[in-house]
Amino acid sequence: MERKDACSRLSVCTGDITRLEVDAVVNAANNSLLGGGGVDGAIHRAAGPELLALTRTLGGCPTGEAKLTPGFGLPARWIIHTVGPVWHGGDRGEPELLRNAYTNSLRLARKHGVRSIAFPAISTGVYGYPKEPAARIAVEAALGMAEHFDRILFCAFSEGDADIYRKVIEEYCA
Ligand code: ADP
Repeated sequence: MERKDACSRLSVCTGDITRLEVDAVVNAANNSLLGGGGVDGAIHRAAGPELLALTRTLGGCPTGEAKLTPGFGLPARWIIHTVGPVWHGGDRGEPELLRNAYTNSLRLARKHGVRSIAFPAISTGVYGYPKEPAARIAVEAALGMAEHFDRILFCAFSEGDADIYRKVIEEYCA
């Protein structure tokens, strides 16, 4: 697919990812898949207790991989739980692990017929990954697989974070 066509499938929004009406939302989970703070906590609260009852049975998730559950109480049909790396300075494989988190989420989504998917800024909260390099990895991964989707949304939690995505998309798509 041509770059401009791939670019036309990306968009940026600001706010709570749990409210989005998309086929799948991605959760920035931890290795246990048992819930946590940040976006993970918000997704578990909004999805309801059935989500934890199911994730307890999944045996966790290695960093960079992804697992799928129903959305339960969310408007989204599916939740894709992925685990980004904790930032340790960048020389412990963090960029590759973050890329894997995005590409494995997109592969799993595709396998389940997902056409619209929303990502939070994986690893950029408690896990400390610097926001702009993280956004570059997110946008590169999305562009590489955009042909398989109608819409790939980057759901920023603040206007400042949304500006970072807009700037990075501009870099790749101008
Ligand atoms: P991680 O542990 O992977 O760093 P966090 O949940 O701490 O995950 O943060 C990831 C990103 O998700 C941060 O940019 C944070 O601001 C954002 N975030 C937190 N809650 C929500 C939410 N309800 N919707 C969308 N993004 C959120």
